[in-house]
Amino acid sequence: MLARSSTCLEIWHALRTSRPLTTRRTKSYLAPPYLLDDYIPRYQLLSPLQESKKRTEAYAHLRNCNLCPRLCSVNRYEKRGTCLIGADVVVNTVAPHFGEEPCLQGHNGSGSVFFSGCNLRCVFCQNHDIAHQKNGFHLSPEELGEWYLKLQEVGNVHNINLVTPEHVVPQVVLSILHAKTLGLRLPIVYNTSSFDSLASIELLDGLIDVYLPDFKVWDAATSRRLLKAEDYAKVAMESIKAMHAQVGDLCFTADGLAKKGVLLRHLVMPGHEDEGKHIVRWLAENVSKDLYVHIMEQYHPRAHVGKPRRTTSGRARDLVTDIVEPGGASADTATNKQVRYEEINRPVSLDEVDRVKTAAREAGLWRLLEVAEHGGFNI
Ligand code: SF4
Repeated sequence: MLARSSTCLEIWHALRTSRPLTTRRTKSYLAPPYLLDDYIPRYQLLSPLQESKKRTEAYAHLRNCNLCPRLCSVNRYEKRGTCLIGADVVVNTVAPHFGEEPCLQGHNGSGSVFFSGCNLRCVFCQNHDIAHQKNGFHLSPEELGEWYLKLQEVGNVHNINLVTPEHVVPQVVLSILHAKTLGLRLPIVYNTSSFDSLASIELLDGLIDVYLPDFKVWDAATSRRLLKAEDYAKVAMESIKAMHAQVGDLCFTADGLAKKGVLLRHLVMPGHEDEGKHIVRWLAENVSKDLYVHIMEQYHPRAHVGKPRRTTSGRARDLVTDIVEPGGASADTATNKQVRYEEINRPVSLDEVDRVKTAAREAGLWRLLEVAEHGGFNI
């Protein structure tokens, strides 16, 4: 490329000798095309033949479920696997949701479907009452698709946001195809822990518009202890790469709403900032430096963290008094030592979060979600 300061004589000389004009480098500040004029959800573009193949595959998976890394090999019409969920989905909440990123919730909310059950067992789970237990109402895939229409027509939401769907992918596939026949026009968001198999992501190809994966921890020892899945990071790396291969980096329409691509989340855990640094470096080197990343600070443990330790007889000690609540008053050291998962029984510090953000920028990631000073959306 010609430098702006080149003279006519230099240009003529360069053309004659076919050598670069100057070794001085110029920089382009033009961003890649993340703004879309308009958007048609991917499922609208599937042919009848492609739809039919996906339906067949979805039913086959339900009859012999190895669709997530737990590989249970169960017939879900008859038995339950690790996720506790059979051929119907169990849904806890369906509603416009305003707790997501601004580019997803917009002004009218993200049309969220919170599934009950999960294929992970995170000891700090904030939704453990629905993720570790079956709490909610049963829906067939067709009934689930009808709820998407209600969110669209009554809720006027900006998208359909499937929260913790890794263990109900066949039902999700069938529900989207059914909702398409009913007139669904909204983009689909797949809001996942990233503990997805490649077969699962392949089955979703053509149906999901925005992948919203969470990359939780890096070390196998950590994921074994805190997520009850030793291979978590290995699985997450493969599945996130596959998601990105399908939809690329996050794109928006001019109203600031995300329509297609990957929005990656990482929740910084107390005492685990080094794992966060590994994760952001890996993302920059192996997925995309243009990846849209949300480094989150709202760690607030529930489930088993901070609960009384079990004794060898299996009964909890009577330690319910004076146990620290994350974000609340600190317990004394002696008390802290008596609760479960004491090392993560505290809020994450802003310094820990900042150090992970700095590592992300140093690795070349530049699309980090920050709160917009103008109060609107950042794209
Ligand atoms: S989705 Fe459920 S039944 Fe299927 S392999 Fe995973 S945990 Fe097992």
